[in-house]
Amino acid sequence: QDSVVVIGAGQAGAQVVQSLRQGGHTGIIRLIGEEPHPPYQRPPLSKKFLSGEIGHENLWLRPPAFYSTQNIDLIPNTRVAAIDRDKQRLALENGDTLGYGKLVIATGTQARRISIPGHDLPGVVTLRGIGDVEHIRAQFETHANIVIIGGGYIGLEVAAVAKELGKSVTVVEAQDRPMKRVVSPVISSFYTDLHSKKGVAFRLETGVDAIEGTNSVEAVRLSTGESLPADLVLIAVGAVPNDHLAAEAGLETDSGIIVDGAGLTSDEAIYAAGDCTRFYSNRYRRSVRMESVQNAIDQSKAVAQAILGEDVDYDPLPWFWSDQYHVKLQIAGLSDGYDDTVLVGEPADDKFYVAYLKAGILVAVDSINAPRSHMMARRVIGEPWREGLLPEA
Ligand code: FAD
Repeated sequence: QDSVVVIGAGQAGAQVVQSLRQGGHTGIIRLIGEEPHPPYQRPPLSKKFLSGEIGHENLWLRPPAFYSTQNIDLIPNTRVAAIDRDKQRLALENGDTLGYGKLVIATGTQARRISIPGHDLPGVVTLRGIGDVEHIRAQFETHANIVIIGGGYIGLEVAAVAKELGKSVTVVEAQDRPMKRVVSPVISSFYTDLHSKKGVAFRLETGVDAIEGTNSVEAVRLSTGESLPADLVLIAVGAVPNDHLAAEAGLETDSGIIVDGAGLTSDEAIYAAGDCTRFYSNRYRRSVRMESVQNAIDQSKAVAQAILGEDVDYDPLPWFWSDQYHVKLQIAGLSDGYDDTVLVGEPADDKFYVAYLKAGILVAVDSINAPRSHMMARRVIGEPWREGLLPEA
């Protein structure tokens, strides 16, 4: 049968179903999501949606009527509980079952939790979906002391919004600099300075021993012995892939569902796309798991093409962005393994970029308020570095 069922109505799931219809798939298409909303963009959640600058209607990836006009069966509020590969059938949490011809798993990630004492006190939050932001915004009404555990993108974006709303904000980070996993020291120190000037406090190289409080959070006890007063604590220590459905069905997983360049899993009838996947990149000669809009969109297009019978071999040049205050960071390529950097422009002007080189080849560029350099970088990464390869910052 030619029905395609997609689990997970997020960025990737929405792209798969749209690309399938656009590509000429005429059979049944079902998009099952556990959330009550139509598919939406997550990046604004920690930016303009959190600050209240935009509302729900600006988050939808397609107008809600799109799915019915395209004859796509969007099934919200429905969680898939298990995959029966022999019968090609899904068990839904509400007790129903649903057959599939081809299945696409696009279940994304969930916020990583930490199991320290007090992690489940009221006032301790994570940020992954619309519901989380609505909850945090309600807390912003009455709470002034925010502690953010984790100095990655989401932690820093929330710090920026909270600071602009006049909150007292402290970021606690285990590493010696924020965003260490993904950017060079020059970018990290630019962001430490930026946030510090706005009044955000940092505790670097610092762990968290406990979150304290009686009926709700009152303080965060640090590994240094210091106790930070807090009435709202955001835990932003990364995400873990939702690969358990796949693993329980016996599909190959390794912190992510293993797929090939067509998005195919170890079962000929099951594909996967987006944050929940891990694949081998010929470009980077290692397996990668991406958490980005770029990957969710492009890998989903590849999956749709593969289902439509085309030959595809997805091996992207990754790109990503983060907005904090008036500053846009754009990342092109993966900088791991670089042996040299070139700084162009002035961090003091809030406009510069860092080019990452490996054996003289440009492998990645982090741009600060330099969109032209970013766009060009996406074209020339892989070329030998030379003066003039990228425009001035
Ligand atoms: P998701 O969009 O997470 O969708 C997965 C969906 O599957 C969810 O709705 C989930 O509820 C559903 N689901 C899971 N399990 C089941 C089940 N068993 N049954 C039914 N439904 C299920 N990326 C960028 O490139 N730039 C940014 O600036 C940026 N900012 C971000 C800010 C925040 C706060 C967050 C959370 C993410 C951000 N990202 C950003 C990452 C980007 O949003 C993700 O990479 C992208 O959403 C991945 O799409 P996806 O479809 O794989 O997963």
